[in-house]
Amino acid sequence: MKTSFYQYTLAELRALFAAHGLHASGPARFFHWHYKQHRREPCTEDIAKLTQSWVREHLSFDLPEVDTVQLSADRAVKFLFRFADGKKVETVLIPSKKKYGICLSSQVGCAMKCSFCHTGLQGLERHLGTHEIVGQLLAAQRWLTEHRPGDDRISTIVFMGQGEPLHNFDAVKAACEIFHTQHGLSFALDKITISTAGYLPGLERWSSEMPEVNIALSLHSTETSKRNELIPINAKYPVEKLLQVINAIPRKSKRFVIYEYLLARGFNDGEADARKLGEALKGKKAFVNLIPFNPFPGARYQRPTLSEINAFKATLDEYAVPSLVRITKGHEILAACGQLNSRQS
Ligand code: SAH
Repeated sequence: MKTSFYQYTLAELRALFAAHGLHASGPARFFHWHYKQHRREPCTEDIAKLTQSWVREHLSFDLPEVDTVQLSADRAVKFLFRFADGKKVETVLIPSKKKYGICLSSQVGCAMKCSFCHTGLQGLERHLGTHEIVGQLLAAQRWLTEHRPGDDRISTIVFMGQGEPLHNFDAVKAACEIFHTQHGLSFALDKITISTAGYLPGLERWSSEMPEVNIALSLHSTETSKRNELIPINAKYPVEKLLQVINAIPRKSKRFVIYEYLLARGFNDGEADARKLGEALKGKKAFVNLIPFNPFPGARYQRPTLSEINAFKATLDEYAVPSLVRITKGHEILAACGQLNSRQS
């Protein structure tokens, strides 16, 4: 059975080539050809015949299939991608000026069961492999090049789609290495953000193992009882411990830590909540993304009104903690945060 070319970091491909006695210059050439030049067929340029035939026999270059594409008036694009085993995930392109950010999924479903998240309701079906994470970006890039030529640049990557990225640490880490390497897609590390619900075992590995990408923590409340309701793993990995571990991650890799704060009407969007958030983050290198709750069928929370959202932000501003209300994109195609659910698509 063939393995996917896209599951290998450059170091792993070099080791694979070495183990099979193939030419050491091949891996960098393959990376350049497929990631920089976006070629579909296996590289033949300056590659020994023996290597070419070994690669054709052992590696596959297939990308996830586009099952459906939904377009939003604001240029957001939501893909439902289908993998070889029939499992599907959603990936979203988020427009900004002439470029796009891509929101990647890391698992089919999710084990975290956050009470406000559509994906959580689906439960975890399986982790994605590195090639399936990288494949989402390559397939979305291919679609853009074909359908929006001249307006096809993906400039940032966020792991904020389906799944808990730190629960699938090794595959996400390898995907980040592939995105970053200069022989490959050459994304700067500060253009990549991993968002976590607070999966402590992954955060504890971060400093020593993860490339220095941005960290985003889904905070949503600083109060134990409220956060336990929103994010059940908080009972096992409490927020105080998470903040401690995140703050201990070396400075350079920390840059600004992004804290996501979901605003659910009448639940965690009051003045007292804003003050607790301000107290917890003041003086830290923190940036807060305020995300008004995005409803989905059967949801138990509500979205606050614009004036309630603005009042929350104004209180937080008193603590000089920088924040931004995340303008929802792709809302009409259920492509916004927490609305992804590949079962019902
Ligand atoms: N598992 C990761 C990444 C997935 S979701 C994490 O929890 O961080 C990306 C962001 O969207 C998270 O902050 C998540 O809490 C938020 N989110 C999930 N469902 C939402 C909803 N219905 N409305 C608004 N934000 C939501």
